[in-house]
Amino acid sequence: MRVHHLNCGTMRPLGGRLVDGRPGLFRRATMVCHCLLVETGTGLVLVETGMGTPAAVDRNAWLGAGFVRQSNPVPDPAQTAIAQIRALGFDPADVRDIVLTHLDLDHAGGLIDFPWARVHVYAEELRAFTDPRADERGRYRRIQFAHGPQWMSYADTGESWFGFGAVRPLDGLPPEILLIPLSGHTRGHAGVAVDTGHGWLLNAGDSYFFHGQVAADPNCPPGLKWFEGRMETVKGARLDNHRRLRQLVQEHGDEVTVFAAHDETQFLRLSTRSSV
Ligand SMILES: [Zn+2]
Repeated sequence: MRVHHLNCGTMRPLGGRLVDGRPGLFRRATMVCHCLLVETGTGLVLVETGMGTPAAVDRNAWLGAGFVRQSNPVPDPAQTAIAQIRALGFDPADVRDIVLTHLDLDHAGGLIDFPWARVHVYAEELRAFTDPRADERGRYRRIQFAHGPQWMSYADTGESWFGFGAVRPLDGLPPEILLIPLSGHTRGHAGVAVDTGHGWLLNAGDSYFFHGQVAADPNCPPGLKWFEGRMETVKGARLDNHRRLRQLVQEHGDEVTVFAAHDETQFLRLSTRSSV
């Protein structure tokens, strides 16, 4: 299957190397929203949606002033998933399915641009949204879901995928696309695995933030580490995910390419290839 790597939202927070690990402190860091567009035999599948068209029009209204202040998302209509899909020569109406890692605003904000699509999500995440615990209230941007997405949710994690629990098959989707529960950042956070025919891709979403966290000698800029800890929902699960993903990369790196949603280094490396 042909896979396109899209950055559907650049963020430029303060903090320089404390956030993105590159030289220079007194500059803005760069973070991306790494989405995939998958060409299947029956249509297009979008993995993650970025922040959506309304974020390029009125980012405070769509994303909330607190997030905008902290993350400084660049309001660029050309970066939205729908604009990039058109620029690639596709018809957005052919995006019939969307698979999400979780429902945070920088991952689900683009659902509004594809109201006809079915949205596949891990059931625990939908529960966190519909029936939030005290610490989950206010996390999700209700305005982003007001159009009524066509949810397809999944509870089972019966099968194993490289030692991880895996949800498959997803209704109406080819067996090459599956959800990998990676609870921690949010209660129902999942990775999305895609078998390209030339190896697996695992969009690990926000289960880690920095490429160094899955390296043999793990490392992470302190500002990013602090932010990640603050956003954690399930205590301790984040570090366990790091460990498991690191093991996956070390033991199966030739079969599985793992990336984090917001890591620009990994995005640049993968987006130079339109498919893997
Ligand atoms: Zn995120």
